[in-house]
Amino acid sequence: MKILIIKCLNDNYSYIIFNPKTLLAAVIDPSEANPIINEIEKNNLKLKYILNTHHHYDHVGGNSRLKEKYKCKVAGFEKDKDRIPEIDINLKDEQKWKNELFECEILHIPGHTSGHICIYIKEINALFTGDTLFSLGCGRIFEGSYAEMFNSLNKLKNFPKNTEIYCGHEYTENNSNFCLSIDSKNLKLINKINQIKNNIKNNKPTIPSTLKDELECNIFLRTDNLEIQKLLGINSDDPIKTFTKLRDLKDNF
Ligand code: ZN
Ligand code: FE
Repeated sequence: MKILIIKCLNDNYSYIIFNPKTLLAAVIDPSEANPIINEIEKNNLKLKYILNTHHHYDHVGGNSRLKEKYKCKVAGFEKDKDRIPEIDINLKDEQKWKNELFECEILHIPGHTSGHICIYIKEINALFTGDTLFSLGCGRIFEGSYAEMFNSLNKLKNFPKNTEIYCGHEYTENNSNFCLSIDSKNLKLINKINQIKNNIKNNKPTIPSTLKDELECNIFLRTDNLEIQKLLGINSDDPIKTFTKLRDLKDNF
């Protein structure tokens, strides 16, 4: 199984997963149809499925045209069936869904939107986190509470450390500046930022990251770190309060 990273719109990523032998393919979060069609045609793939992490237009924008062109099926969270265009397959929280390409695990991770899910494909060690976990950041809270987003991020911490993180946007450099503005003595962060700068200089995506890197460097996953709590002026050991403060600071960064 292989993964293609496809740049869409301004800073979105869509991902095509395909089997090089059968050429069957699935796409995650097609922001728009054209860049996906180009890759499908270039590699002679047969698009069977579209999977959406959430209903925002920059994650479902290509659904209708791709479905019409390739007669593929659209899969999304059951509770978002009224706002994911062209949905055919209703996925449930904690469901293991098997299709002719792969088996994946679905987790409901609300906060950015109430129906946001992530998709974990163990076979390729890949976790698709949409707009919930970004490299060195997390999504804005549009439909949930701080506690919901905090709990959703905590769920993601439980995947194996070497899991590769594929998120919905190339926001890594801006996120890295925010992390550094607070966690300025974190050598692992400084190291990761050097790699990120290098990728950007060479016009390469900063994705995938790994869960290990995110646990060590992403300040939104380090809210239980007493040193960070102290830097933010939080006097009791309170990860949710720390998360809330961080999210508010980032919204105005
Ligand atoms: Zn979104
Ligand atoms: Fe988005």
